[in-house]
Amino acid sequence: MKTWHVGSFKVTEIPEFPIAVGLLDGVIAEATPDVVRGIDWMRPDFANEQGQTLWDVHSYVVDTGDQIILIDGGCGNGKSYPMQPSWTDLDTPFLDRLTEAGYSPDDIDILLCTHLHLDHIGWFSMKDSAGRWVPTFPHARLVLVRDEYERHLAQMLSPEDEESAAGAGADDDPIARAFLADSASLSKQTKLIQEETFDPIVEQGLLELVPTNAEVVPGVRYEQTLGHTAAHHSVRLSSEGRSAFVTGDFIHHPMQIARPEWSSQGDWDGATTGRNRRAFFEAAAGTDLLILGTHFTGAGAGYIVEDGEGFRLANAPA
Ligand SMILES: [Zn+2]
Repeated sequence: MKTWHVGSFKVTEIPEFPIAVGLLDGVIAEATPDVVRGIDWMRPDFANEQGQTLWDVHSYVVDTGDQIILIDGGCGNGKSYPMQPSWTDLDTPFLDRLTEAGYSPDDIDILLCTHLHLDHIGWFSMKDSAGRWVPTFPHARLVLVRDEYERHLAQMLSPEDEESAAGAGADDDPIARAFLADSASLSKQTKLIQEETFDPIVEQGLLELVPTNAEVVPGVRYEQTLGHTAAHHSVRLSSEGRSAFVTGDFIHHPMQIARPEWSSQGDWDGATTGRNRRAFFEAAAGTDLLILGTHFTGAGAGYIVEDGEGFRLANAPA
């Protein structure tokens, strides 16, 4: 299992599953196989010989010494995702891997989430032996940025609005455009996520909403990184003069380090994401900020260095 030390914090990646090769071909439209093959450092960690990008789904446990924090919750087992049928009703040994890493669900104190897409929230709940959805981490507060939670809630339409939106075709929401026919389908998907994942946490009084850029505990801070969703936040870790940055989908794939302006089809506002990525890399280049990529395969992490018209991920700080 991949682990990193950031000052006195220990970070462990908990794998959920590798995304099937080909499923996300074209999600970054400019990253055609020829282009990907032309960027040497993509292989073998982040792309295959055919120039297809590689992706996975994982979470991070951050052990600060005082608190044990899980960042992002993958897809979860047994969930209903009409938006993404191949991630519906999964059965992965994610919790066994958490145990292998030395943590039980009871140990987790805090859950953080970069944004509320279905591949970042699933493990926050699970089915108990009676088949009811319950919090997977019974003692953990789910600490969410208020604006991101409200964005999620706003996707749920009234039955009348769902009816009038049904079959209306692509709408203003890029996720709906990319994966679904219309906002009615997005609304139905969001209601399932609310029922299966968030309601059990709300009912236990474990949901806590915080403002943009909130420090959650000393050295663990949400950092607004807009564009993938309207209130997307990455997570910055700081301890004893060292720091790390959990990207979320702000950096969806390392190709976007090489070409910061190339946005994902799933972005709510690709132009904003691109601008924000370039500014972020300009500030990070040549520093010892450890980048932990939420969908990065292979080494999964590295340091930003300048490279031609873009940047690249290096094994050591420049
Ligand atoms: Zn994602």
